[in-house]
Amino acid sequence: KYKELELKVKEEQQLIKDGVEFSKEELDLYQHNLETLRQLSRLQNEEKMDQFLKSYSLPGEGKELDGTKGFIKEDIEVSEQSKWEDLKIANSIFKPVNRKRKAYSKSRRKRKTNRDKKKRGKGHHSGSASSSYTSSSGTDEENVQGEEQNDYNLLLQNPIDFVKDAVMSGTLDLDKLAEELKNKKELQRKERENKQLNERLSMKQQRASLPIYRHREGLLEAIGKHQVIIVVGETGSGKTTQIPQYLYEAGYNRKTGNEGSDREFMLVGCTQPRRVAAMSVAKRVSDEMDVKLGHEVGYCIRFEDRTNKDTKIKYMTDGMLLREFLREPDLASYSVLMIDEAHERTLQTDVLFGLVKDVARFRSDFKLIISSATLDAQKFSEYFDDAPIYEVPGRRYPVEILYTKQPEGDYVDAAVVTALQIHVTQQLGDILIFLTGQSEIETAASILEDRSRNLGGKIKELIICPIYASLPSNEQAKVFKPTPKNARKIVIATNIAETSLTINGIVYVIDAGFIKQNCYSPKTGVESLVVTPVCKASARQRAGRAGRLCPGKCFRLYTKWSYKHEIEESSIPEIQRTNLGSVVLLLKSLGIDDLINFDYMDPPPSETLIASVQQLYALGALNNLGELTTLGRKMAEFPLDPMLSKSLINSEKYGVSQEVMVIASMLSVNNNIFFYPKKGQNVTVANNAISAFYVTEGDHLTLLNVYSQWKDSNYSTQWCYENFVQPRALNRAKDIMEQLQNLCERVEVALKSNPTDKIQIAKALTSGYFYHTARLQRNGEYKTLKTPIDVDIHPTSSTFKEKPKCVIYYELVMTTKNYMRTVAQIQPEWLVEVAPHYYTQKE
Ligand code: ADP
Ligand code: MG
Repeated sequence: KYKELELKVKEEQQLIKDGVEFSKEELDLYQHNLETLRQLSRLQNEEKMDQFLKSYSLPGEGKELDGTKGFIKEDIEVSEQSKWEDLKIANSIFKPVNRKRKAYSKSRRKRKTNRDKKKRGKGHHSGSASSSYTSSSGTDEENVQGEEQNDYNLLLQNPIDFVKDAVMSGTLDLDKLAEELKNKKELQRKERENKQLNERLSMKQQRASLPIYRHREGLLEAIGKHQVIIVVGETGSGKTTQIPQYLYEAGYNRKTGNEGSDREFMLVGCTQPRRVAAMSVAKRVSDEMDVKLGHEVGYCIRFEDRTNKDTKIKYMTDGMLLREFLREPDLASYSVLMIDEAHERTLQTDVLFGLVKDVARFRSDFKLIISSATLDAQKFSEYFDDAPIYEVPGRRYPVEILYTKQPEGDYVDAAVVTALQIHVTQQLGDILIFLTGQSEIETAASILEDRSRNLGGKIKELIICPIYASLPSNEQAKVFKPTPKNARKIVIATNIAETSLTINGIVYVIDAGFIKQNCYSPKTGVESLVVTPVCKASARQRAGRAGRLCPGKCFRLYTKWSYKHEIEESSIPEIQRTNLGSVVLLLKSLGIDDLINFDYMDPPPSETLIASVQQLYALGALNNLGELTTLGRKMAEFPLDPMLSKSLINSEKYGVSQEVMVIASMLSVNNNIFFYPKKGQNVTVANNAISAFYVTEGDHLTLLNVYSQWKDSNYSTQWCYENFVQPRALNRAKDIMEQLQNLCERVEVALKSNPTDKIQIAKALTSGYFYHTARLQRNGEYKTLKTPIDVDIHPTSSTFKEKPKCVIYYELVMTTKNYMRTVAQIQPEWLVEVAPHYYTQKE
């Protein structure tokens, strides 16, 4: 029982050390166990131990505590010195056995699996603590020794203060013990409050130390005087987090009486191109204002609305604000709107420009702030009728730029090597690595972890923090945690960290020089994600991230020559290089029919507009006069790509709307569904588990299969881990599904279910995705239909081995090859059946 208790305590202690949050009850139990354990360890011989054990029961077993009289009493009088002796004795008596990981309680296991591997090979202390749980490292003998040390840690770490009083004379008085614990917790609570107070104070200081702080009055004055202003300031100067707060403090949420909105307060809105930024900034501002996220300060991203009727500052993605125009074309709820990160020129931001400019014209009470990180603000000013430019000078230290001598073939590996090189040769200071996406980032993180583990105690501690769009928010928060003394943080990010997020403490930047971009050719109608070189403006921004704290260094993983000769000065705005289907559908729904003469800052190529209109026509969203149809109106309701909306709405006809809704939700999760095995893991087990879900007809049905099995397990998290499925992804899919269900109700799509009829499901999907079709050639490769391009099925697809004759795909990703991702097998005849407009014309 002692051992059982000890194991429990250790387990909990480890979790506490790792920063896992404990509920009050869990903490109670832990303290109780710890206390009992301490008493046990103070017994001086085994006989007494036996005696004690006879009378002691583990919590929850329901036995009474009795017969303990007599020996605890003498125990209480021990001197300081003999206490240390006792501990040693206790440890030598109760030498723990070598335990394996399976000893962990199931519910807790999941919370620690991730960091188990991270822990290994860090400092001595945590190293020894975790080695006892890692069956793979070291011999048994070493392990035992590790445990022993750990036992000392366990017992010595929490100095005695509380033992002396907690053990009562004569008997183990549980009431009194509880009293003691209560006091201790009260103390803890007070400490916590103090800490929070200090944090708040320091937040105030932090706010006051931002470059924008000195411009508070000037900015407010400018906003008061002008309807539209352009704010330009170095990244990290405080635009995003501070300006909305200044507006709030200045009373911009008050209603003056004749606004059109029925809200009690007006909203101060701020758009962000990326959802991670919207979430993270909203969180930060709610902390600074000391309010709960989702109340006074909230955010709204696709499929997630964390605002309520009290919300005064609302951060949102530009795409979400665009959709709000459908409900509120005059933005009546907003008194001020800040279009942030304007320099990014995302498709949505560019379309917003035209819409909000219009709103400003007919709502004199509406204020508009366009904020940008680059100095090239003249263009914004001209577009907004010569709006004044307000500059917030930032501080900046010099950044030394270093290039590679030769081009690097594998930039992920080069980034890892560079990071380690910096770590062993350069002074402490955090490193920021720019890569293009989640999978690269995860690969780099795991290689870094491996290598730094192998170096073990020879190097200083490394804290590796990935950040990308679909990372869960608690992991995102980790990036902002200050780095402990004597350790170095390595942040591995997409270009989210270029301007949207500022991570303090970065001294070194490693720039791989690439970015993942949308690409669309109106001629071929092919849309894809392509890894392309960054532009010079981006490269400069990235380098600038190293110079906020002190002079920094930027390691570019490309040659000086290619910087000079091969990369563009600035990137092409997204509106000129992407499919405009969803935007055209939205504008049409807003009653904007003249798409060519819409007030664009930079107009899209007319071929792209025409191709988008044609696509919407083929999908049935527009009629042959280019007017919105009933179907089109319904499609616009869904925050999905028009092709997916069409499949979903159409699926009712095929009697499978329930199934297609699940598939649409799974496709919208925006994350890997599976835990693909990493290097060094048991690849076969994982692969077998994953391929057990595969449905030969295709990945859409595989996704449906995963979801149904999860549902059958009663949405069990345990089931997910056992089957290499990401529980977070599935939970999100479940959320999304509920929302899609509401939308289906609203547009009167009846939910019908026929899970076994794979053909109907595939047909429903084809009715939306007939644009994305490819056919197998004689040479064993695929070509897209209509405008032939060589493509391949992605190796993770369930159809990869099968090679069906004809397929539809969800997306095309261009890396080393043109890969179709998420593929379903179809019959060519279906194309004529589901899209007669499109396929009879030519055939
Ligand atoms: P800008 O929009 O001008 O680039 P921000 O308002 O985003 O600047 O950032 C101002 C400061 O707030 C930066 O120093 C940044 O590090 C800090 N900050 C922003 N978000 C967070 C966060 N989630 N946690 C900690 N600090 C943050
Ligand atoms: Mg910002």
